[in-house]
Amino acid sequence: MIKKLISKLFTPRAPRPILGVKRHAPLRVPKEKHGIDRRLVSRHAIKVCDVLHEHGYEAYIVGGAVRDLIVGAQPKDFDIATNATPEQIQPLFRRARIIGRRFRLVHVVFGQEIIETSTFRASGTDEQTTDEHGRILRDNVFGTLEEDAARRDFTLNALYYDPATEIVIDYHNGVADLQKKVVGIIGDPAKRYREDPVRMLRCMRFAAKLGLTIAPATKAPIRDMAHLIENVPASRLFDEMLKMLTCGHALDCLRRLRAEGLHKGMLPLLDVVLEQPGGEQFVKLALERTDVRVRSGKSISPSFLFAALLWQQVNQRWQQHQAAGELPIPALGQAVDSVLDDQTEKLAIQRRFVSDMREIWFMQPRFERRQGKSAWRMLEQPRFRAACDFLQLRAATGEVDSVLAQWWMDLADAGDAERAAMLEDLARQPRASGDAPARKRRRRSKPKTHPAGGEGGAAPAGAE
Ligand code: ATP
Ligand code: MG
Repeated sequence: MIKKLISKLFTPRAPRPILGVKRHAPLRVPKEKHGIDRRLVSRHAIKVCDVLHEHGYEAYIVGGAVRDLIVGAQPKDFDIATNATPEQIQPLFRRARIIGRRFRLVHVVFGQEIIETSTFRASGTDEQTTDEHGRILRDNVFGTLEEDAARRDFTLNALYYDPATEIVIDYHNGVADLQKKVVGIIGDPAKRYREDPVRMLRCMRFAAKLGLTIAPATKAPIRDMAHLIENVPASRLFDEMLKMLTCGHALDCLRRLRAEGLHKGMLPLLDVVLEQPGGEQFVKLALERTDVRVRSGKSISPSFLFAALLWQQVNQRWQQHQAAGELPIPALGQAVDSVLDDQTEKLAIQRRFVSDMREIWFMQPRFERRQGKSAWRMLEQPRFRAACDFLQLRAATGEVDSVLAQWWMDLADAGDAERAAMLEDLARQPRASGDAPARKRRRRSKPKTHPAGGEGGAAPAGAE
C-alpha cells in the first residue's frame, strides 16, 4: 500500500495541458539561431536580470522586446518576467515601485528608462473570470514560466531571452514563426479571441508592422468574431488604436482592419470616410505622412491624427449646415459636435485629445483671414503649428488654396522680424484670393463648444 502510494507520488504523470495547449519541453534557442545582438539590449534591462539572478531568481527579457530584437528592430521598451514576487523584487532596487491594483508589477526606474518587471502569470481558467462572451475579466494569478508563456497571445510574443546565457526559451516555436514571417496565435484561435477580442487587432498590427503573414488558422475566425470588439472597454480600444496609428504602418493597419470588418467597433466612420470622394485621399495622405514621421523617429500628435481621420465627416456636415443657412462658425460647431458624438459612442477619444482636435478644426476657417491682427492672434494659439500642418493636408488634397497654405507655413517657420515683414507686405497688397471677405470677418460669434484654451497634450504634429 505504502509502496503503491510512494510510486504514485514519484512516477511522473503526463503533464496536464495548459489552456488546451499540449505541453512539451521548450526549445532553448542559442544565439547563432536567434541572432539577437546583445548590444541592442538595454543595459538597465540586463542589470535587472543580473540582480534577480544574483538573488537566486529566474529572470528574462520578454515580449515585444525579444520579438523586435530578433527581427533586428530597436525595441520601444524592455519588459522583464521573473519568478520573484513584487514584494521580493522591490527591495532589490534603489528606485522601484509596485504599481497596479489588479495585477501588481514593479517599475524599476533608471533615469528616463522604466523597466517593467512582472511575476510569471497563469491565466485564470475558471468560468467566473470570464464574462458571458468568454472575455477574460481577471488573470491575476501568479504562475510558472510555462504558464506565463501559454497565456501570451502570439508565438512571437512568448519568447524569453536570458541576457546572461544569450539563450531564448521558446515554448511555442515563436523563433521559427518569426523567421518564417508568420503571426500565429497560441492555442485555439476562436477561444483566445473570445477571451480578449483586442488580440484580433494586435494580430493585424503585428502583421502590418513587421510585414508578416497571418497563419490561416489564426486569421480564419476573425471575420466572424470581429463584432466582439464592441464589448471591449472604449479606453482599451483607444490605446490600441493609438498604437496602430503610431506604429509606422498606420495605413496598412487600417486597410487590414477594414478588410476583416474590425473597424466597425472602433472607427465606425471609417467606411463612410473611405468611400467618400476625396476621403480616402485625405486619410491616406495624413497616414502616409504620419508613417514617414514615425519611421524617421519623429513624434506625432494623436489629436492631429484623429482630427485628420474624422475631418472628411466634419467637413461634409459643416457644408450641409451652411447650405441650410447657418453661419460658417456655428455651422462648424454643430458639425464637430455631431461627429464627435457619433464617434465617441464606440471609441472614446481621450478628452485632452478631443479638446486639441476641436482647436485644430476651429482654426481652419480662421486661416482664411490674414489681415489686421488676426494672423498675429493665430500665431499665439497653442495648437497653431498642428492646425497649420492640418491646413497643408487640406491644400495637398485640393481643399484649400495651396498658396494660402504655403503662406501660413512660411509664417510659422519665420522668425519675428520676418513675420512682421510678411504681415506688412500683406497689408500693402490688395486682398489675396484666399482671404475671406470682410463680411465674414466681422462675424466672430464663437460656438459655445469651442474650448477656452489649449490643454496639455502631445506635441503638435510638426513641432520640432
Ligand atoms: P508593443 O509594445 O509594440 O505593443 P508588445 O508585444 O510589447 O508590443 P505589450 O502590450 O507591451 O505588447 O505587451 C507585452 C507582452 O504581453 C506581449 O508581447 C505579449 O506577450 C503579452 N500580451 C500583451 N497583450 C496581450 C493580450 N491581449 N493577450 C495575451 N498576451 C498579451
Ligand atoms: Mg511592449
